[in-house]
Amino acid sequence: MADVPKMDMKTLPTGLTYYVAYPYLPRRGNPNDRPMKVPEYAIGHHWGTQMNITAQDTVPEQYDILVRTAKLHLTKDYARGIQYHWVIFIDGTTYYTREDHEWENHCSNGTINKKSIGISFCCNTSTQGLTDAQKKSASRLIQYYEQYKKTPRPNVRGHTEVAINLKTGKLDPKQTSCPGTAGMKFIKDYRLGVYDKPVSQPTPPADPCATVKAELSALSTQNEDLKAELVVKSSELGALQVKLNDNDVICDALSHDLIGAQAELSKWNKKTWAQLIAEGLKKIFNQIKK
Ligand SMILES: [Zn+2]
Repeated sequence: MADVPKMDMKTLPTGLTYYVAYPYLPRRGNPNDRPMKVPEYAIGHHWGTQMNITAQDTVPEQYDILVRTAKLHLTKDYARGIQYHWVIFIDGTTYYTREDHEWENHCSNGTINKKSIGISFCCNTSTQGLTDAQKKSASRLIQYYEQYKKTPRPNVRGHTEVAINLKTGKLDPKQTSCPGTAGMKFIKDYRLGVYDKPVSQPTPPADPCATVKAELSALSTQNEDLKAELVVKSSELGALQVKLNDNDVICDALSHDLIGAQAELSKWNKKTWAQLIAEGLKKIFNQIKK
């Protein structure tokens, strides 16, 4: 098994974490000889051969498979090492295997090769299908090219969709079944927007102030309720004060009337006593006269 180099681990803005494998893989030629400014196409592939790849493979085993594949591709004179820019294993682990500013002969179409990146699922998608982990990695990878490299969505294709019949020079899907049944379904679903869901973000750590914030929020609500109640009570108090003032006025008027009545009563009493005395004296004088 090949020794595993210390590959960098990087993360795309769309959330895909991957290993940078290209500096270590066997290759030939100068990367600058085949410049590609913008990847106008993203082409999906699969590996027809299974190479005993399993979902349990770890990085050393996956790296070993990449080295063996690069060596296999180097046996073709038109290849300069591993022919794909990206490789996605069964468990979703992704390797950057060729820089995306260097074009490579990965699909049977000379024009498309010069302006496309090749993304390969390293399994036979017709017999093994695709795992959710592979679909997740692939969708985040293609989203990156769409959003940050402006690769148009209609140009996300399966190998079979761009394959050319060398005899006729025309597009001929029968030239290859690559990227396999499940791979081609994924590509079509991707174009239809099935994988457009927002990339899930890692759950942020629990807020240590959450309890205090909740209490503060409850108190704030209670405070607003009390303020509203205070407005109602103030209004009621105002009405009661008005009523009290009215009662004071009525009370003053009644006091005034009472004083008047007492004065009248006093006058009447005096007059009555004077009359009684006068009548009494009159009776006495009358008896005396008799
Ligand atoms: Zn292919």
